[in-house]
Amino acid sequence: MEAFQWQPAPSPAAAAALVNQTTAEAMLTLQDTPSAQQAVLVKAGGVDLLDLMKEGLVNPRRLVDISRLAELQGIAREGDGSLRIGALTTLAQIAAHPGLRQSHAALAQAAAMAASPQIRNRATLGGNLLQRPRCWYLRSAAHHCLRKGGGHCFAFAGDNRYHAVFANHGCAIVHPSTPATALLALQGRVELLHPQGRRRQVPLEDFFVLPEADMHRENILAAGEILTAVRLPPQSPASRSVYFQVAEREAFDWPLAAVAVVLDLDAAGLCRQASIVLGAAAPAPWRARQAEALLTGATVNEETAMAAGEAALAGAAPLAQNAYKLPMLATLLRRAVLAAAAPQPRPQGS
Ligand SMILES: Cc1cc2nc3c(=O)[nH]c(=O)nc-3n(C[C@H](O)[C@H](O)[C@H](O)COP(=O)(O)OP(=O)(O)OC[C@H]3O[C@@H](n4cnc5c(N)ncnc54)[C@H](O)[C@@H]3O)c2cc1C
Ligand code: SF4
Repeated sequence: MEAFQWQPAPSPAAAAALVNQTTAEAMLTLQDTPSAQQAVLVKAGGVDLLDLMKEGLVNPRRLVDISRLAELQGIAREGDGSLRIGALTTLAQIAAHPGLRQSHAALAQAAAMAASPQIRNRATLGGNLLQRPRCWYLRSAAHHCLRKGGGHCFAFAGDNRYHAVFANHGCAIVHPSTPATALLALQGRVELLHPQGRRRQVPLEDFFVLPEADMHRENILAAGEILTAVRLPPQSPASRSVYFQVAEREAFDWPLAAVAVVLDLDAAGLCRQASIVLGAAAPAPWRARQAEALLTGATVNEETAMAAGEAALAGAAPLAQNAYKLPMLATLLRRAVLAAAAPQPRPQGS
């Protein structure tokens, strides 16, 4: 790793004013050029950023450390039942938060399944949503691929067993964030602070971008912008959410396939609304719209859950080595829908 300067930020606004590039922009420039070495980047937990620096994939002049900013910490419930989760809240804090586990269960479950206990203690929600993809060619200094500004995708003719089965034209990364799958199903929004002081809220669905819109980045974060929080709307009392995944190892690993399901059911088990998102399937968390449409207005049972699992695969285009993901996604979705619709245990003492 090259030498770099270290600058603790006194406030989110000061951090925004200091930072001059996103990590995706810094990775676009070949690392031995003078402009690549002028990057000033924001660092939260440092789990992903320091990895990229150690691999020589990014070579910043300075890191602006936001990890001690109290304004970006913590989980707060607003009067209407919505949640504001500060960008520096760790995955471990999200997984363990009793209120969140009750009201937005899919997010707590996704956070609990990400990485390992040590990483969850360090990894922040903001950094997790903004981590770079795991494609091994992207992560190899020897491969100057399309996403880093090169002229070639190595995955199509190479090893693509962990790559996307949807929207994989041009670049076939899968989005790396496990919590993002649940956050999209729960209709999350990110709160962003611009270097000139403007604040904006963006639905996650519009925040993440597919390669067809921009090959070089995974989201619309602008240079210098700080992700300050994630907001989740209140869930109706009849709504239940579930996150399921399958990975090669139970811990310390990204999923091979994942699904988050949010169902709003009436007393007779009829589904009033379904929100279903697939993870590890596409370059951004992937809404399974056909499955949502199939379940909305239907009674949830084994038959409709299985049909939803099949419907979710509409438009899939697996690569040479990753068709195995399709039955995994369909089965996870069927199980998650049935779990979300299952009678809930009565609270103790009732
Ligand atoms: C072995 C291993 C297994 C893992 N498994 C999983 C897994 O299963 N699921 C999963 O989701 N992740 C997994 N991860 C990834 C890990 O969760 C992320 O690297 C971590 O969450 C990044 O968070 P951080 O706070 O350390 O971010 P940092 O490394 O500090 O930052 C990441 C990026 O975000 C930017 N950034 C950070 N915070 C902000 C902010 N508030 N505003 C603007 N920009 C910001 C930084 O500039 C950088 O580009 C794994 C990692 C390892 C090493
Ligand atoms: S899938 Fe994307 S990140 Fe991976 S080699 Fe191809 S262009 Fe690069």
